[in-house]
Amino acid sequence: MTYMKAGGAPRANEINRNSSRLRKVHVKSYGCQMNVYDSHRMTDLLTRDGYAETATPEDADLIILNTCHIREKAAEKVYSELGRIKKLKRQAELAGRSLTVAVAGCVAQAEGEEIVRRAPVVDVVVGPQSYHRLPALLAKAGRGVKVVDTEFPAEDKFEHLAPATTPATRARGVAAFVTVQEGCDKFCTFCVVPYTRGAEASRPVAGIVAEVERLAAAGVREITLIGQNVNAYHGDGDGGRPATLGDLLRRVAAVPGVARLRYTTSHPRDVDASLIAAHRDLAALMPQLHLPVQSGSDRILAAMNRRHSRADYLAVVERLRAARPDIALTSDFIVGFPGETEEDFRDTLRIVEEVGYAGAFSFKYSPRPGTPAAARGDQVADAEKAVRLARLQDRIDRHQAVFNAACAGRSFDVLLEKPGRLPGQLVGRSPYLQPVNVMAPSSLIGEIASVRITGVGSNSLFGALRSGPEPSQGQIQQPALAGIGA
Ligand code: SF4
Repeated sequence: MTYMKAGGAPRANEINRNSSRLRKVHVKSYGCQMNVYDSHRMTDLLTRDGYAETATPEDADLIILNTCHIREKAAEKVYSELGRIKKLKRQAELAGRSLTVAVAGCVAQAEGEEIVRRAPVVDVVVGPQSYHRLPALLAKAGRGVKVVDTEFPAEDKFEHLAPATTPATRARGVAAFVTVQEGCDKFCTFCVVPYTRGAEASRPVAGIVAEVERLAAAGVREITLIGQNVNAYHGDGDGGRPATLGDLLRRVAAVPGVARLRYTTSHPRDVDASLIAAHRDLAALMPQLHLPVQSGSDRILAAMNRRHSRADYLAVVERLRAARPDIALTSDFIVGFPGETEEDFRDTLRIVEEVGYAGAFSFKYSPRPGTPAAARGDQVADAEKAVRLARLQDRIDRHQAVFNAACAGRSFDVLLEKPGRLPGQLVGRSPYLQPVNVMAPSSLIGEIASVRITGVGSNSLFGALRSGPEPSQGQIQQPALAGIGA
């Protein structure tokens, strides 16, 4: 932890602690679901410390940017956002109050003290492993000290952010994320996560189950267990014995009120027998899995240090489908990784055909400073990457369209989550995670309704509530596509 003396005006906490006005915190979250979860837990923690949450940065006494380092020029985007916040800070001071600014997340971890040097508007820089220390860090900032905490402390931050013994976790809807694992030991050559989030660490089963019980009691019906490499989960289970993700899913599925389970993001190499058995045995575990392959070329997979071959990946897919025939698979792809040839790229197009994904995220490779791939001399020209990306996305889109079209006329159980865009409309999720728009009363939010699919959009489905006793048909097989060549 680093403290730097700052001069100037009294700090936010000094002023606001002395006034009767309730302090307000605004957290802006970037990037992945893990950041969303962390943002919610930071807000919960600060709420216990006397803050109220605000959706508008203009009336906040504390702004936290929870940053992501995955996208290109991530740090530069944070600095330009801080430029905007500088104006807010000036306006707040003119109005007789002060504004504390904190930068959290992976950019905070990667940039550290550089942030307060380049952006003096920032009072606190806090890495992802230290969020539970926020009240103490803010108190120091309130005494006029610039605080940088990017350590990997020994204590369990989750026991502070989502303690097993107090009702700290606030439900924010009928579906919730629960972080079960953080960090990564895989060191894919394109990825910053092992550097920004550290080594793999798993929460004990008991703390996770306690958090899920609280969420279920607050009305949450669907839980998504999340981690950077979630199926590397190896938390302490009963009697301190290590538990796998499959073991954990069985425990969470037994929590009363939990109707649906998902998990993300998985590494193909860590799909073990207990996880496959969970897909076979647990009705609550939804038939949908995001299983990134990144490339279909063995040469590129080796260069990426993915630690599995194309055949290994396809074997995992086969085992999953044997256990749960209707499982819908999605993936991430990187095109134009250094050294990728046209033949390598065609292998990627071929694996899309072989697996028949229900959807996928695809990106042009862009170098992340400090990663091995960024230093390679055989970078692919950007124009070529753009062409390959368009070809891949066209292929993925066609598979997704076929998958969605196969849903028309069928009936699914849909968890109705929130109001839709149209009056009288609700939006829910199918078992395959597709958004489903249904005309239904808001009293059904939180219910799992049988819905007949009447229309198919590019990214969502349209349906009608079924009234009869006939059960949902529930399952679709991922349809095979014929005649789409490389
Ligand atoms: S497994 Fe995932 S999180 Fe870990 S290094 Fe590879 S891409 Fe990054």
